[in-house]
Amino acid sequence: MTRDRYFDNAATTPIDPRVLREMIPYMEEEFGNASSIHGFGQRAKQAVEEARERVAGLLQAEDPTQLIFTGGATEANNWVIASFTGGYVSPFEHSAVREPALARGYQLLQNEAEQILPPSGHAELISVMRVNNEVGTVYDPKAFRAHADALHSDLTQAAGKLPIDVSELDYASLSAHKFYGPKGIGALFLRDALPPFLAGGEQEMGARAGTLNVPGIVGMGVAAAIASDEVERDLAHASDLRQLMLDELRSVTDLRVNGGENVSPYVLSLSFYGIEGETLVIEADGAGYAISAGAACSSRSTEPSHVLTALGMDEPWLRGTVRISFGKFNTRDSASALAKILMQSTEKLRTLT
Ligand code: PMP
Repeated sequence: MTRDRYFDNAATTPIDPRVLREMIPYMEEEFGNASSIHGFGQRAKQAVEEARERVAGLLQAEDPTQLIFTGGATEANNWVIASFTGGYVSPFEHSAVREPALARGYQLLQNEAEQILPPSGHAELISVMRVNNEVGTVYDPKAFRAHADALHSDLTQAAGKLPIDVSELDYASLSAHKFYGPKGIGALFLRDALPPFLAGGEQEMGARAGTLNVPGIVGMGVAAAIASDEVERDLAHASDLRQLMLDELRSVTDLRVNGGENVSPYVLSLSFYGIEGETLVIEADGAGYAISAGAACSSRSTEPSHVLTALGMDEPWLRGTVRISFGKFNTRDSASALAKILMQSTEKLRTLT
């Protein structure tokens, strides 16, 4: 097993074997369409409703019917943004909020370093993520409550990882694969109904058309139930690994830790001055370790990250940024070994230049 060498858990997590085990029957004998009235359909429907309750439990939502299953956080984010005529989004949002928002003429909130400033006027909608996916900064979306009619938060890097309470939010998005569930399934929490984003069948109480992804939904439910039970333990484990890596990297010069004061223990964003983050990713990969480069929005993009740019990072720091993101399958030994690889590579690359 090399899962322990996978330090890119903010990109996606490996599936928990307990999740996979409960999904399999819904791809084999319990294959029914959850909209069908026969036994096959009704058993699938029952599994979906149980999963909805589990996801509601994870978010501490009052009523499971406030959750609608989607194809992931991207769809949930796009749905919310498309449902309002305008508003504000933070400058640190994932592209699944940022792109549709900018296309619809929303404005970006201003920032001072990691801190997001409130808007000057009142908005229809404000969207502020709970945890930033690139540098790990933790935000408090409810601080923007008084400035908008409706408040949305992208919880994708927080759900299943930090305790969540949606009581002060109107809308919230999440994806199962960030907390050991399957890919391509997520949910939107809605306090008030929104116009359907996808038109077609009457699934999901008429809110979201399309045959339900029953195995995915079941998997998301199991992942949510496990996360509800284990969130504190996993959080302590991530904090321990993050601190261990910071201790091990103490002697590296010209190294910055990004994200500010209030940062998720699951994310360690580091900038090595004058080094290419991509080169460190390749060096680590050569040793069987997965981390990611922080400077590009996606692996295919050559544009610098809007998050690091908004933080005002200078080019040599920005280019030297890598993201290490922890998960429950990482071990202290593998974290320590990764720190050594990064130290040795940094030394080697710096003597080369
Ligand atoms: N929001 C955030 C903060 C994310 O980190 C991601 C995944 N990188 C998404 C949204 C999109 O999630 P998905 O690709 O599962 O739709």
